[in-house]
Amino acid sequence: MRKITLKKGREKSVAAGHPWIFSGAIASGEAGAGDTVEVYGADGSRLGRGWYSPASQIRVRMIPDEPVEELVAASIARRAAFFADGYTDAVRLVNAENDFLPGATADFYAGHVVCQFSSAGAEMRKEEIAAALMKFAPGCTGVSERRDVAARAKEGLAGADADAFATILGAAPPELVEIREGGCRFLVDVRNGHKTGFYLDQRDARAAVGALANGLDVLNCFCYTGGFGLFARESGAASVVQVDVSPSALALAKKNEALSHGCGTKMEYAEADVFKYLRECRDRGATFDMIVLDPPKFAETRSQTMKAARGYKDINLLAMKLLRPDGILATFSCSGAMDRRLFGQVLAEAAADAGRRMQCIATTGQSADHPVALAFPEGRYLKGAILRRADARL
Ligand code: SAH
Repeated sequence: MRKITLKKGREKSVAAGHPWIFSGAIASGEAGAGDTVEVYGADGSRLGRGWYSPASQIRVRMIPDEPVEELVAASIARRAAFFADGYTDAVRLVNAENDFLPGATADFYAGHVVCQFSSAGAEMRKEEIAAALMKFAPGCTGVSERRDVAARAKEGLAGADADAFATILGAAPPELVEIREGGCRFLVDVRNGHKTGFYLDQRDARAAVGALANGLDVLNCFCYTGGFGLFARESGAASVVQVDVSPSALALAKKNEALSHGCGTKMEYAEADVFKYLRECRDRGATFDMIVLDPPKFAETRSQTMKAARGYKDINLLAMKLLRPDGILATFSCSGAMDRRLFGQVLAEAAADAGRRMQCIATTGQSADHPVALAFPEGRYLKGAILRRADARL
């Protein structure tokens, strides 16, 4: 096996369990794309094994010594409670670095597993990973992959092309896979939808927000295929407006409405840019009891964080102004570059500028099937706050 030796002092984070070794930390050694390498400190001590990526700034990703099949089996076994309790049949089975399989994610949708391989090491082992998923995921009928992941380009791997979706093992999934989450049902477009088709990471937040929505007039911004809005409807919201800029997402949201429970909630759909839509609401004097803001990632890197902060502040400030007294704002950020503290600051500034007294009644994070390896803080990206407008009024 090839040997990689680190520069003096650069072994610390690896020894502490961080899985990434950047090119600048390496003193000597190289290998082919996806090769397993042995990693040593400058003093000659063995630090462990890793997968080599010659095209990436992240040159080596550390991988435990167990065989890949065992790592996949263990990752699935850690999700046993999801399969046992039956709340949902859509679960992330492998969360990449956080489940000690760098660059490999696998999402289970009612028997169909959809993977993304975004490191050279995971790409090289995708047949092995797929075979393990097929063997250990309960009721697995097939394993497919999505190749249109931006991160693949940085690894020198093939990106979005005619074969952006391929079935590796077993049966190909239908065009739309129907999943269950709580009392709602969703159609998942595993070929063209975002990520592998569904925002599994917001499962807990959807339940938390839905539970507060009884009797309320709800505005669900960045609704995608309707998630938060359908949970609000299931809890007996008076009305829900679902807003998204994507016609295909809204089309699925409407189909999902037809599949899920309702009890007389007035449902409306608006194909619009949320930044403009909120201003239009302001201009026509529309107000709401509950607003959900679940925007896409505004910051890809740290350098974009300040620009992203302005975007978050803008929509949150507008939403706070549209809230009725005691109204609830459920607001999220999935930009890893913006940490919880900074997000909190942005929200506090938005409230001050909006002239609203706001309080936080709960915080949310990515669901338990998106664990964060403690030595890998980069794994934590999603954060949410459920805020209440709390001005005194007699
Ligand atoms: N809350 C959803 C996930 C939201 S993903 C869920 O629980 O499933 C973010 C969504 O924002 C995507 O559907 C995308 O189409 C939409 N979007 C991105 N920019 C937008 C904009 N400026 N205005 C409206 N929608 C936007």
